[in-house]
Amino acid sequence: MPVPFYNFKALHTQQFKAKVLERMDEIISQNSFIEGSYNQSFESRFATLQQAGRCLLVANGTDALEIALKAHNIGAGDKVGVPGITFYATSEAVINVGATPIFIDVCPNSGLIDIASTQRMLEQHKLKAIIPVHIYGLPAPIAALNKICGPLKVAIIEDAAQAQGGQYCEENLNGAIGSAGNLTTFSFYPTKNLGAFGDAGAILSPNTMLSDKIIAIRNHCRGKINELAHLGQNSRCDSFQAAVLDLKLDNIDEINQKRKDVAANYYQILLEGPLKLMPKSYLKAASWHLFPVLCASLAQKQKLQKHLGQHGIGNLDFYDQSQNQILSLRKYPGEWENAENFANKVICLPMNPFLELKDVQEVSEVLKLFFNA
Ligand SMILES: *Cc1c(COP(=O)(O)O)cnc(C)c1O
Repeated sequence: MPVPFYNFKALHTQQFKAKVLERMDEIISQNSFIEGSYNQSFESRFATLQQAGRCLLVANGTDALEIALKAHNIGAGDKVGVPGITFYATSEAVINVGATPIFIDVCPNSGLIDIASTQRMLEQHKLKAIIPVHIYGLPAPIAALNKICGPLKVAIIEDAAQAQGGQYCEENLNGAIGSAGNLTTFSFYPTKNLGAFGDAGAILSPNTMLSDKIIAIRNHCRGKINELAHLGQNSRCDSFQAAVLDLKLDNIDEINQKRKDVAANYYQILLEGPLKLMPKSYLKAASWHLFPVLCASLAQKQKLQKHLGQHGIGNLDFYDQSQNQILSLRKYPGEWENAENFANKVICLPMNPFLELKDVQEVSEVLKLFFNA
């Protein structure tokens, strides 16, 4: 029996679609297509959910990163630390504001930003900001980073595109992702844990000064703040996307819990097996956007991908290249030994809120066929 990677059919039920159409009809009759009342509703509810000061919707997750960098006055001549394991957009945003990405190495067992490498890059390159990424929905060590960066006045922007519904997981920090006092960016691309019916993104902001800058930048720097060092841009979120996202918030806790239950099933069944799972300490805190596991080598991974494909098991190798290996990013400096190793070995197994125990068992049976062959 095939096990699909995603399952949008189960997520977007007839009942849900009917409610979306009702809202679309309402938006059309009100001629309120951009930044309408559902934008305000979503912003206020999402800020509460993520325990942050304020939420500002923008057009997508890449813009959210760019605008957060601009809000911290980061531009030409500045260096920004980016972990080696992330989606390309994290580095792209840094380059698009005129700054230079410096690659920071990752922990070999999680792909998350490594503290010792961060410290070395801060010293060697005089970074003005770092962008820790909650990659796969695993929480990056933000309390430790806040402690290092605070005294140096290095800004932290958390890339939480994959961490909607996640919590921090440190001794002295365990609130919702976005509650640690840093600008925190989200993507609502349709495949993310909370997905729009198109593109959308958001920034969580801890204070009025940053919120006001973001509000100005996302709408051409019209309005009150005209003295910004940077030009603004058009990154408004349209009312239709906000209406869909606002509807999805109604059962988001239940959906997030289901992902955690799927992850728990995987741990129960695969923990003793030959594939290496992410550290079990993240099990309850992670948002489990994806379910990455590590193979023993690149050769084994390639064989396994083929085997899974032949048996109808969805799989994707996010991320098969560390940032420094990507063609347009090869000229930037930093550290990446662990990141390259991780990229070689990582493969993501099916993960969506609708996988049942029998689906996870099926994945396990197909893995057994491979490893016992
Ligand atoms: C999806 C994603 C982004 C970019 O979001 P878009 O909405 O596609 O622009 C940025 N960073 C990470 C880690 C992502 O997964």
